[in-house]
Amino acid sequence: MSNMLYEGKSKMICVGRDDDNLIIRYKDTATAFNGEKKAELSGKGKLNAAISNMIYDYLAEHGIETHLIEVLDETAVLVKKSEIVMVEVIVRNIAAGSFSRKYGVPEGTALKNTVIEFSLKSDELCDPMINESQITAIGLATPEELMEMTRQAFRINELLRVLFFKAGIRLIDLKLEFGRCGGKLILCDEISPDSCRLWDADTDKKLDKDRFRRDLGNVLDGYRDVLRRLQNVR
Ligand code: 5GP
Repeated sequence: MSNMLYEGKSKMICVGRDDDNLIIRYKDTATAFNGEKKAELSGKGKLNAAISNMIYDYLAEHGIETHLIEVLDETAVLVKKSEIVMVEVIVRNIAAGSFSRKYGVPEGTALKNTVIEFSLKSDELCDPMINESQITAIGLATPEELMEMTRQAFRINELLRVLFFKAGIRLIDLKLEFGRCGGKLILCDEISPDSCRLWDADTDKKLDKDRFRRDLGNVLDGYRDVLRRLQNVR
């Protein structure tokens, strides 16, 4: 694509309408383990775009400022240009994934409080976990920005827990990214089964990217199920 500025693992960033915005195009590529595992899953881009756009609309209705300006087509959105904070914010409601592995807590264990974690956004370094004093020491974010990202992350998690609960889905954990725009921190990137763990509320069936990471099969059936259920409650 001639107007592409950057190609990421699952999205392309393209020139926007003017200097204040960009176009994000969702790709069909699925990657895991920092790109070591890769596949083309036809239709994934459309599914993630539809799910993320629906979630972003819901969050905007509840007062969360996001980068989304306009949905352009089935895989493309126009977004505000922002300076991405190079820190991924992970919120956990239930033990799973790296938390279970690192701390020996079985997957599915309820946590006594919501957990927040940060990791350095760096493919080269495999997104290492980083703590608050390390983040401020390196200058990745100011203490005020960290507080604001934490406040917003907890609020977004609570809003999404409610939305997914209505859809018969448990929000196990999720990853968020923020950007600086007009003196504020706004929610950026996507929120989709690629960036959240989503389990069926009755059966604990995984409906997210763990189906791809763990070779559970029928990856996009899970994503389609998430979209259908969200459409039913929106
Ligand atoms: P974990 O640390 O257990 O691997 O991941 C926690 C949550 O954050 C999961 O929902 C996972 O999908 C999401 N997550 C962590 N790192 C990334 C990342 O680099 N990209 C995406 N899309 N999601 C991530």
